[in-house]
Amino acid sequence: MHSILDAALQSARPFLSKGKVAAYIPALNRANPDQLGVAVCLPDGSSFSAGDAGVGFTIQSISKVFTLVTAIRSLGRDRVFERVGLEPSGNPFYSLVQLEYEAGRPRNPFINAGAMAISSLLPGETSSIRLDVVAGGMSELCGRELSINVDVYSSERDTGNRNKAVGFFMKHFDIIEGDVTVAVDTYFRSCSIEMTCLELARAGLFLSNHGVDPTSKQRILEQHDVQWINSLMTTCGLYDASGEFACRVGVPGKSGVGGGILAIVPGKMSIAAFGPALDEKGNSIGAWKVLEFLSAEMGLSLYA
Ligand code: GLN
Repeated sequence: MHSILDAALQSARPFLSKGKVAAYIPALNRANPDQLGVAVCLPDGSSFSAGDAGVGFTIQSISKVFTLVTAIRSLGRDRVFERVGLEPSGNPFYSLVQLEYEAGRPRNPFINAGAMAISSLLPGETSSIRLDVVAGGMSELCGRELSINVDVYSSERDTGNRNKAVGFFMKHFDIIEGDVTVAVDTYFRSCSIEMTCLELARAGLFLSNHGVDPTSKQRILEQHDVQWINSLMTTCGLYDASGEFACRVGVPGKSGVGGGILAIVPGKMSIAAFGPALDEKGNSIGAWKVLEFLSAEMGLSLYA
């Protein structure tokens, strides 16, 4: 496995110079575009990694998966999907246009609007309590007490006017429950959770193991809920590039503008790849190429 991971990094490296780090969140603009790492976790407890797999990065939109997991665990799936849909948006993750046509109801949990709507349902009066609920569950899964990157959080909180507009817009339609500023701030905090590839792959492993965390043997979600999350990752996890990711990689995935992509191979493994250089849709070029290589080499596509 180690040699295949090294080969995957080597195949991806030439593409890094085609990307740019996220500049619209000022603190992310300082990321190093040459970094590249990958980690694989198997249900038998073994893990493998290469490159910058031990470097911490903010998970950004990958947090939307764990926000959804937390909400389903505490409220049940029906309650969550009263607020958000199950369809790809075909639009950028930050877009407002569709929301106006569709009475403020986000198309899916993995666009910013969807994650903010779900953040409004989480238990806890304040955004820091809600963050603790989300990050607490993830910490148990990855075996380390996680925290947010305060620089990145403050940077997005101080500049994230479009996300705030999306939040207030949804509040107008009563899609956001309770205080909209708490929901938006919970979202910003969740996006700033800092993890390494190895930790992220560990945290996602239960999604490839029918809902059970193989390390603790604890059931995190029912199998039918995992089926929904993996399906949504397939159709919506890479925003308006989800179709292409399905063709080229062929497994459920979720990306973030911090440069990470979490990929789930149902029944087989979880993979987290990281490289801060992004394509024009906000997906990590390096992480995508690493996953594309691994999928081809190990025959991982679900559609082959
Ligand atoms: N925090 C980022 C934002 O809301 C997350 C976006 C992303 O990772 N695609 O813009």
